[in-house]
Amino acid sequence: MEHWNAELEAMPWRDVERWQAERIDAFLPALRSRSRLYARLHAEASLRVRELADLRTLPFTTKDDLRMAQDAANDAAPFGDNQAVDSTAVVQALSSSGTTGRPLYYALTARDVETFADAIATVWFTAGIRENDVVAHLVGLPMVAGGLPYADGFRRVGATLCWLGGFPTERILADMRRLRATALLATTSFALHLAERWDDAGRETPIASSLKKVLGGGEPGLHHAEIRARIGHGLGGADVRETMGLGDVLPSMWGECERHDGMHFCAQRSVAVELVDPESGDAVAWQEGATGELVYTTFARDATPVVRYRSRDHALVTGVGCACGRTSPRIRCIGRTDDMLIYKGMNVFPAAVRDVVAERFAGIVQPFVRIWKEHAGQVRFDDAIALDVETIAALADDSARERLARAIESEVRGRLQVRVAATIVAPGTLPRGTYKSPLVAVRRAKGETSDAP
Ligand SMILES: [Zn+2]
Repeated sequence: MEHWNAELEAMPWRDVERWQAERIDAFLPALRSRSRLYARLHAEASLRVRELADLRTLPFTTKDDLRMAQDAANDAAPFGDNQAVDSTAVVQALSSSGTTGRPLYYALTARDVETFADAIATVWFTAGIRENDVVAHLVGLPMVAGGLPYADGFRRVGATLCWLGGFPTERILADMRRLRATALLATTSFALHLAERWDDAGRETPIASSLKKVLGGGEPGLHHAEIRARIGHGLGGADVRETMGLGDVLPSMWGECERHDGMHFCAQRSVAVELVDPESGDAVAWQEGATGELVYTTFARDATPVVRYRSRDHALVTGVGCACGRTSPRIRCIGRTDDMLIYKGMNVFPAAVRDVVAERFAGIVQPFVRIWKEHAGQVRFDDAIALDVETIAALADDSARERLARAIESEVRGRLQVRVAATIVAPGTLPRGTYKSPLVAVRRAKGETSDAP
């Protein structure tokens, strides 16, 4: 069996956790003296980690902790209280995309760049990328987690990096054929957008497509059979694999193997992962069917490390171990805390609404929807949630649209116990992003709308 980091990827998971605990035990005392953030958070803590479960005696680190740490930036430490190295050792700054508030910045030392490249290469290799692949990298912003770090990962595997992200869609479609791209990496939204146009673009060039592999991620949805089929089918029958990471921690840590049954954790050489109950913070065991929030500890990170970082990503464990020989847990991401809405006291992820609609009405509606908020800060809904659903083909008349809308409302209520007020919109109405397409938009005033922050 082929693995990138054969030793760790095939090691019994218990032994991987023991191996990690040894490194964390050595890492933490030094961190408390390097980072003002952890000098504060770990002031009272015992830093002995004999087994990974001992991590649970340490406090979580939250996004707010990182924001406040960054607010304490000064000339000597532009990355704030969590800058754990001297500025001269920093070789790169990275930024979060800022889709959920103002962006955060992270620093990398030369060793951090190596750590990232190794982990991300492990993900790409797990997801089927090999040195003979020609990869169209379609994230347009070098500074975000999916930018330069992903590019480094492709080069580390030995594939040919074609960084086409940022060019207009027409040029991307043409250049992929010209350069004989065998693989592409894009957000789920953009992959769907390309899939809709791939055949048309192909008719304009005499060069046949070489595309065989699609890596997607950056937003939940790719686990969904209907979305996956549309992307794979639209892109000439390409094999679709899902990947996932987090800028605050490591840009890509999870990758799907040839079994197509959830993403393996691939960053075991530098990151420890826990699953916790999002309400209580208690540990949740890695077993098939379990759900929880992912919590990460970067024990090999020099510049801006995190310990027990609450990712706000909610996962469903699809299995532990795998016929591919990898021992790490496998997951699907089911949503993010930041996206969560509360309908009459009940939590609901916009992605779950989208999944129900896309699954039940496959072939009739597009596998994306738009949920309307009255204002950007709205989380709670006591009335039916306004939902736009786009049909694939225009419907004949108002009564057909009405019937479909009522059927969608009934399906969502039956499956999720959530009331929605569905509006059927014409083909091509909902925005298709070249980066991430939010499922939620804000209704400001009549006729004036904007995406949710
Ligand atoms: Zn596997």
